Amino acid sequence: MTSPSNSLRLELDSQISSPDSLLAAQAQLMSVAVRPPRIMVRGSGSYLWDHEGTRYLDFVQGWAVNALGHAPPEIAAALQAQAQTLISASPAFHNAPQLAFARELTRAAGLAQVHFTNSGAEANEAALKLARKWGRLHRGGAHQVITTLGSFHGRTLAMMAASGKPGWDALFPPVMPGFVKVPYGDAAAVEAQIGPETVAVMIEPIQGEAGVVVPPDGYLRELRRLCDERELLLICDEVQTGMGRTGTLFAFEREGVKPDILTLGKGLGGGVPISAVLAGERASCFVPGDQGGTYNGNPLMVAVARRVFELVSRAEFLAAVCARGRYLEQRLAPLCTEHGLGLRGRGLLWALVLREPSAEAIAVRCFASGLLINAPRPNLLRLMPSLRVSEAEIDELVSVLERALA
Ligand SMILES: *Cc1c(COP(=O)(O)O)cnc(C)c1O
Repeated sequence: MTSPSNSLRLELDSQISSPDSLLAAQAQLMSVAVRPPRIMVRGSGSYLWDHEGTRYLDFVQGWAVNALGHAPPEIAAALQAQAQTLISASPAFHNAPQLAFARELTRAAGLAQVHFTNSGAEANEAALKLARKWGRLHRGGAHQVITTLGSFHGRTLAMMAASGKPGWDALFPPVMPGFVKVPYGDAAAVEAQIGPETVAVMIEPIQGEAGVVVPPDGYLRELRRLCDERELLLICDEVQTGMGRTGTLFAFEREGVKPDILTLGKGLGGGVPISAVLAGERASCFVPGDQGGTYNGNPLMVAVARRVFELVSRAEFLAAVCARGRYLEQRLAPLCTEHGLGLRGRGLLWALVLREPSAEAIAVRCFASGLLINAPRPNLLRLMPSLRVSEAEIDELVSVLERALA
């Protein structure tokens, strides 16, 4: 690969006098994140380049979004073909990609219907609306949803209330009512909180933002049993774990159970903004007027998601995700033994558990060595590479990590 720096400098220079002054333009951006003084300009597969031509091995991939890696040719081709055909006709009309993908995705999930949305949080909002509506129709107005401590469901006001992220309840009061939180991985704790107002249980099959927290075997099966017994809906937020990330198309498949409502995002679009809420026959109770959005089911985005799905849902692709996941685990094991680290995860979603709160410092050191990894908690490093990551790229990760931990 040639460095993009020269042509990029020219390009930037023609717009603004220098990358430095371009960076000065951050004063006009609302301050919602602390970002390094770099401009990311190009990606290819597992690599990302900044404006100075520095190359990074990317184990963050847009936050577990780029299922096929950076700038995959298949997405470019799908975007181009659809952009030349129809970009948007409005959600008031049918479009061909949406009809075709609805059939394929619901069949793969074993659920009855789907509604396409734009972000994980929006898909979860739709899931919550379905649960409340279902409670009104079938459970005498029951509306309370049991969620878990440490969970992450998005940043809308309702999803911040649903999430169990420490400190979030104090940020934008008043907090939306209707949620009860219990420890994650503990089905008995869910059972203890079920009351007459309870309508649903909402969980991530593996907690992603909390640091890849894998629940005990049988957790989902036990929740499914409870929901059946107590007439509740089981909502699986697979925004992070879905679309092959954990080695099966959906993480719920591993326990042989099905949720009533499923949400997808992140990897669904392979980097473009699209998400989805799916529901089984019983829970799919929207009627016209209940839900919608200007970009919901946008043909340009759905055409991309359909192409991504066609690739990641293949048995060979998912088998390769599992194989690369095992390789990653094997290669990290000696490092963990040497430094006394914990390792947890599945498929290509992993976290290293440090003994000290040094994750941020290590992530910064890795960045300086050209490796992008994420520190979701002070003592956790998270790895969420492209689902096409190669063994050689995993070897490169391990060697940079070795130096950063030394
Ligand atoms: C990222 C994430 C969300 C929120 O998705 P956005 O697209 O950022 O709104 C919701 N749930 C889970 C499990 C996630 O990982």
